[in-house]
Amino acid sequence: LNRRLVGFGTTIFAEMSALAATTGSINLGQGFPDTDGPEEIREAAVRALREGRGNQYPPGPGVPELRTAITDHQQRRYGLAYDPDTEVLVTAGATEAIAAALLALVEPGDEVIALEPYYDSYAACVAMAGGTRVPVTLRPDPAGGRFVLDLDELRAAVTDRTRLILLNTPHNPTGTVLTREELAAVAALAVERDLLVVTDEVYEHLVFDGAEHVPIATFPGMRERTVTISSGGKTFSFTGWKVGWLTAPPALTAAVRTAKQYLTYVASGPFQYAVAEALRLPDAYFDTLRADLEGKRDVLAAGLAAAGFEVYRPRGTYFVTADVAPLGEKDGVAFCRALPERCGVVAIPNAVFYDHADAGRTQVRFAFCKKEAVLREAAERLARL
Ligand code: PMP
Ligand code: GLN
Repeated sequence: LNRRLVGFGTTIFAEMSALAATTGSINLGQGFPDTDGPEEIREAAVRALREGRGNQYPPGPGVPELRTAITDHQQRRYGLAYDPDTEVLVTAGATEAIAAALLALVEPGDEVIALEPYYDSYAACVAMAGGTRVPVTLRPDPAGGRFVLDLDELRAAVTDRTRLILLNTPHNPTGTVLTREELAAVAALAVERDLLVVTDEVYEHLVFDGAEHVPIATFPGMRERTVTISSGGKTFSFTGWKVGWLTAPPALTAAVRTAKQYLTYVASGPFQYAVAEALRLPDAYFDTLRADLEGKRDVLAAGLAAAGFEVYRPRGTYFVTADVAPLGEKDGVAFCRALPERCGVVAIPNAVFYDHADAGRTQVRFAFCKKEAVLREAAERLARL
């Protein structure tokens, strides 16, 4: 293993899903739904397979039907206009979009600012690109149980070596949805310091309590410096299909495509057609998905609170971060390793998403994209701890 990857080992998701399997535990660790996405979209994939659409290499940037569906979606939801021919790239999940963007845009020695705790592929991809990650820590707001971005800390993190800000909203694992004001401040900083922004918005449709997801590309001066990433895995509950995408101005799209074509070249042919149909589902689909998850969020958050955890109520994603300190626990990693044996539930320790591990030492993450009965059973088990 080369020096850049030393320490990355096996992802926490693989480790914890394996533990769930061997112990027969309820897996609230790795984030994937236990119910597949819409039947009609599965049928669309079957139709594409049967009709021979996408069974051979699709076009490098993605099939035209999907690229147009992506630009129509950005226009319909956010009023953002992109050219499907020059400003869209379909990728093997958001994971590849993140990797290709960082490999294409980061020079060795460049600094990449990311909001900590962060999704684990960010650190690995910054390392593979030869960059240096600069974490800016989201901290629980003493006033309200929400993780907040300290804008002064963000400003102070920018140096002459900063190349880009790697943003993520709605944010995994904290469930924070950055507000319009926070995003405006990030945008102003990016413009002032001439930074690129790569923004991971895979949970764009999973927002609760009336919270609004605002793409940072909509702010003044941002469209031309922003790579916006999303994924069909989250929005349509097909994480195994690995259909992701990005939208960005032509020069950035071309740069990322250069890296992407030597990673996978292309992926997921027939599924691209199905996701194209999914993006054209009526608003009711997205509203129902959100309402369903909001109810599940409430069930799990209430269960965790009743079991004695301190709960940070998420306004987005399908994760809830909880603190185990009130249970007398001092270490989230040890807690999560023992939890399957103790009560048959699997969770993810947030400490692995931090550079400053102390900041997240006692935080753990539970996924609630599961059937309500499963969440209730998990809550009962946790209450017996
Ligand atoms: N970004 C974030 C924040 C995620 O949570 C995930 C999925 N866990 C991804 C990217 C990866 O998405 P995909 O499955 O489409 O590769
Ligand atoms: N995105 C999912 C999560 O955060 C899992 C992704 C993965 O397994 N790599 O749980």
